[in-house]
Amino acid sequence: MSKTINSFPEVLTIAGTDSGGGAGIMADLKTFQARHVFGTAVVVAVTAQNTLDVQASKLMPQSLINAQFAAIAEDFQIRACKTGMLGNSNRVRAVVQNLKKYNFGPIIVDPVMIAKGGTALLSEEAIVTVKRELLPLATLITPNIPEAEKLTGQHIENKVDFQKTARILQNLGAQNVLIKGGHQNSDTVSDYVLLANQTHFWLTKPRTHTNCTHGTGDTISACITAELAHGADLATAIRCGKNYVTATIEHPIQVGHGHGPLNHWA
Ligand code: PLP
Repeated sequence: MSKTINSFPEVLTIAGTDSGGGAGIMADLKTFQARHVFGTAVVVAVTAQNTLDVQASKLMPQSLINAQFAAIAEDFQIRACKTGMLGNSNRVRAVVQNLKKYNFGPIIVDPVMIAKGGTALLSEEAIVTVKRELLPLATLITPNIPEAEKLTGQHIENKVDFQKTARILQNLGAQNVLIKGGHQNSDTVSDYVLLANQTHFWLTKPRTHTNCTHGTGDTISACITAELAHGADLATAIRCGKNYVTATIEHPIQVGHGHGPLNHWA
């Protein structure tokens, strides 16, 4: 009897590690596993962190970033990829050059800037580089409110502000935009989606009051990446990402003593 050989779509995350296992590449790989895709990773930064804080971090040499891209391109057929923590301008440029060199399918840009504990994961000078060089490559950009405000200079308070800001992000070159509303002070969390064809919609869920939300941004963008690799259309992939991240928050697990990680078994 011949054995069945399983195959899974191959995906890539380009980001930073979290030694505490809750965010960054670790959250991406856990999400990829749960969503039935095979995850590969280009490590741009290594962080020493746990659920309490980020204690140290180091960016990888550009030559090692390039070598990781080359190794992946040589052997895998990447169907979709995402970016996370990129550190500084030089690393953003290195990632942009590699994304232009290789075809890794749709590019989901999670413009990670500051960890929940307040540590900068992207230098101020790199925000301009992200805006000028990375955004034009983005199939989808997935900022939270502070990130969207930094990228556009637009203050977000009400629904009209979300819509204006999403349009500015499109004008900067991102084809599709998801602005996550988790930082608003409300009983529901509303995310705004503006697609390339100008279709737009809101995704609203009741807020779960918990401090176990470490890695939510990584997780939603990783889930969207996985669903695109499975062949879903973008609107369906985004809805799936929102449902997945909501489920991981709704059933907290007891790990560490600070901002706990998400429940990828949920
Ligand atoms: N550490 C790394 C390496 C990350 O990529 C991220 C978020 O993208 C964080 C920490 C921050 O996670 P959070 O703000 O969800 O606690």
